[in-house]
Amino acid sequence: MTATATPSLERALPLVAIAGNPNTGKTTLFNRLTGSHQKVGNYPGITVEQHKGKLVLGGGRAVELVDVPGAYSLSARSREEEIAIQAVAGIPPHPKPELVVIVVDATQLARNLYLVLQVIELGLPVVVALNMSDLLEKRGLTLDLDALRAELGVPVVRVSALRDTDFAPLLATIEDVLARPEIGAPGARWTPSSKELREHVRAVEPSVPAEWIGSNGDAKPNRAAQRRHALALWALLSIDEQDELADVPAELRRAVLERRSAAARSGMQIDAEVISGRYGWIDLRIGRIVRERSARTSLSERIDGVLLNPWAGFPIFLLLMGIVFQSLFSWADPLIQFIEARFADLGTLSAHVLPPGLVQDFVENALIAGVGSVIVFLPQILLLFLFIGVMEDSGYMARLACLMDRLMRALGLHGRAFVPMLSGYACAVPAILATRTMERQRDRVLTMMVIPLMSCSARLPVYGLVIAALFPAATVWGFLPAQGLLMVAMYLFSTLTALAAAAVLSRTLFKAPSVPLIQELPPYRMPHWPSVLRMMWQRSRAFLVGAGTVILACTVVLWVLLAFPKHPEITERYAAQRADAERTVRDPAMLQERLATLDAARSSEQLRASFGGALGHAIEPTIAPLGFDWKIGVGLIGAFAAREVFVSTLGVVYGAGKDADEKSQTLRALIREETRADGKPVYTPLMGLSLMVFFALACQCMSTLAAVYRETRSWRWPVFLFVYMTALAWVASFVVYQGGRALGFG
Ligand code: GDP
Ligand code: MG
Repeated sequence: MTATATPSLERALPLVAIAGNPNTGKTTLFNRLTGSHQKVGNYPGITVEQHKGKLVLGGGRAVELVDVPGAYSLSARSREEEIAIQAVAGIPPHPKPELVVIVVDATQLARNLYLVLQVIELGLPVVVALNMSDLLEKRGLTLDLDALRAELGVPVVRVSALRDTDFAPLLATIEDVLARPEIGAPGARWTPSSKELREHVRAVEPSVPAEWIGSNGDAKPNRAAQRRHALALWALLSIDEQDELADVPAELRRAVLERRSAAARSGMQIDAEVISGRYGWIDLRIGRIVRERSARTSLSERIDGVLLNPWAGFPIFLLLMGIVFQSLFSWADPLIQFIEARFADLGTLSAHVLPPGLVQDFVENALIAGVGSVIVFLPQILLLFLFIGVMEDSGYMARLACLMDRLMRALGLHGRAFVPMLSGYACAVPAILATRTMERQRDRVLTMMVIPLMSCSARLPVYGLVIAALFPAATVWGFLPAQGLLMVAMYLFSTLTALAAAAVLSRTLFKAPSVPLIQELPPYRMPHWPSVLRMMWQRSRAFLVGAGTVILACTVVLWVLLAFPKHPEITERYAAQRADAERTVRDPAMLQERLATLDAARSSEQLRASFGGALGHAIEPTIAPLGFDWKIGVGLIGAFAAREVFVSTLGVVYGAGKDADEKSQTLRALIREETRADGKPVYTPLMGLSLMVFFALACQCMSTLAAVYRETRSWRWPVFLFVYMTALAWVASFVVYQGGRALGFG
């Protein structure tokens, strides 16, 4: 006999899942029903929180209630949505629920019914809880519950998770359906009307794994067939080349991809057909169920009259975006400086505590600097997600997508790609996380591929140094500052390049039928702060864990490249010179200065002799046509960690000290005076322009690559991004530099 684990008591309780669209009151209802009997765990095999609780029905019978993540539909491309469908449908490793309570926002019935239809198709016993029914009266709506029951074929109960004191009707219905599942198992369901689509579904059906169907005791053959059909349809809609689904068997994936490409060849749009088919089913019936009492326009409609008005809507939107954009720079700035200062303090502290040497250098310049360069992104990320959260929760984001859809579609982008792209001006990392508001993986990846072209704030110091050092502070037409104009031109250049790249990529690599933007406009409401804060926290944590670890690792690698191999003779020579200076120079201020010069010269020499220096020399032939020498090569290698590192790496190469920033007069002067072997200056305005163009276009940011990796869960996209941007940068700089020379500049 083999020992087996005792099955836990909870597993013996029948499982009841609470599903529904986001913000319909699932969690409120869950909390009201379970009271104090709740606990938090993880979904099987994944670390997404799941709330479970015991619900005691009449007669002392108990069931286990689970709060499933909210979803607008079960067609999932993302991992989170996959969890929702697995938990509702009971796909292994998730246990199959005996009953699904679908929480519906009664004031948004048409939109909510989409998910209801999908769950019903799966053939599980269902109870529809019409929540927020306390608001119906206020909105001037009446619902015909009998008509709804008749159309859906499942029990429908009115509730108000917030106001009700007694949930007896809901509990009684749950009990009824648990006792006699056939009451909750519907006859009515939507099926594809087109013959071609039905054939595709049928072709996928045999590949649906048997354990997904699950006998679960009710081995009624027609029930199993219905479930197989529904799961095949789900797979056909959810699986594509770029989805993130983790638990799809290879056989099913192969069958779906085959069918999808067959459909694409015959010009059929599976997604659009199913989506509009289901909404068509709903539209046909909704008029009989929902009655609007008065024609009085609601507050939401009046607000929309302004915000969706083509004349007023755009300026208001641009104003709002201006505020967001500005605050990402200005509000975050004090915090960023605070964080930078604290990490600098920490570095100094470590230098005091640890004896000088390799360990100290590592702790200060690799570990602390690395962690610091991760944390420093947090203020912008938190702020950005605060804005996005408020815009989503208040209902404005849905309007924005409509407003922008035309413009973005012309470029092959999704309407919701606009805000992430705009955020790219601040920092690509949170902008890439912000692409999650798009459902389709293709739209998200395409947006991710163009966001890093938007000129982020890390490019600013590089532009600043180059412009200040190499371009005269002249004015154009007597009043416009040439340096400022050049800065604006760089932003314009990067924006136009990003838009052009989107237009090209969407017509080539990301060629796909554009999916109609189906966007019901929810009523405006005050943002729900707990969920806004939760989202801010979840996305920031995702950044810290996902991008942060990669950034840290790369900073360490970079440190090794620049610090090794050690050359004891350099150290000894400078130690001797230091001792010499300490003996001969009497004036303390002069001595300080002399020592600082010596230290900077030593770092510079060490760097030239390091692996990084060797790499700089090695890449020199490839960057020489752009007008760059090996010193800029070292700077470029440093800049791969993060662009702003370019300036400080140049500071080290030129011996201006590693704390040199773009405002350092020493560094500017050193750069201006640098000459080639033939005595001509290395840095000409033309070369400066070439350098700025290179920085505008090249993908020199590990954090961005790490974020793309995290969001797409594949190395394919970060590699593609890196290669295409760097190639673009090289070609553009080449054209600028060689073209400029041919025209007689420089
Ligand atoms: P979930 O996203 O589906 O889990 O929704 P939540 O439970 O977080 O609720 C979203 C918002 O709706 C919260 O602000 C709730 O207070 C509110 N809410 C939930 N149920 C009701 C209800 O029956 N009536 C009203 N007026 N508000 C509700
Ligand atoms: Mg919830």
